[in-house]
Amino acid sequence: MLGELTASIAHEVNQPLAAIATNGAAGLRWLNRPTPDILEIRKTIENIVVDTQRAANIVARVHGMASRKAPEQALLSFDEIIREALLFLQHEMESRSVTILHRPDPGAPLVLGDRTQLQQVIVNLAINAAQAITQAGYDDRKIVISTVTQDAATLCCSVEDNGPGIAAQHANRLFDSFFTTKDSGMGMGLPICRSIVEAHGGRIGAEGNGTSGARFWFTLPIAIPVDPPRCDLHADM
Ligand code: ADP
Repeated sequence: MLGELTASIAHEVNQPLAAIATNGAAGLRWLNRPTPDILEIRKTIENIVVDTQRAANIVARVHGMASRKAPEQALLSFDEIIREALLFLQHEMESRSVTILHRPDPGAPLVLGDRTQLQQVIVNLAINAAQAITQAGYDDRKIVISTVTQDAATLCCSVEDNGPGIAAQHANRLFDSFFTTKDSGMGMGLPICRSIVEAHGGRIGAEGNGTSGARFWFTLPIAIPVDPPRCDLHADM
């Protein structure tokens, strides 16, 4: 199992590293021209910065997985967490021509938790959604991330896509370690999401039977319970 995991991690980290090497070499070539092309050089450096972030994120995920440290306990606005995660996802989504809509709950109360780990959940779910949509080959590529106050003690966040949805035979295995349907998948994204959400006292699940996209949702306990409860779990696509 460890060998398999190491091979997958090596494969995942290698992609941004190879891109960094390619962009570094291209940047040097532009620089070594009799008249260096500053715009091209800037482009290669920007690509290097983005790919370095990707590699760092993979390493952080693996580190988080290995260390299993207790989540930090800070009072957080969950919609702010989503906005920060969206900044991180911007490049990935643009390159896949996927539009992400963020439907915040302006009145959502704060949650208690670990900013980095919760961002990781959003990033993992959104990247999975984007991969599913891209693999399906649709032109209309849309992800909706919404937050709703489910009841006085619970915040619910959902990530919905208009991809192929979840095949019935996979539904019970999505959150199992190493379950993947992708050629270069690790099958660790959803198990990590689950362990983060559960360490925060929440629950995670998925629905979508292969006809109208997938909807992944998770709940988090509200830091200071509010009254009266509101419940509307469905975002309009
Ligand atoms: P990986 O992305 O490496 O495959 P994950 O644990 O993140 O690992 O996901 C496991 C599997 O769950 C995926 O391979 C895919 O089959 C399924 N899955 C995850 N997200 C979606 C989605 N939005 N739509 C359809 N299937 C999904």
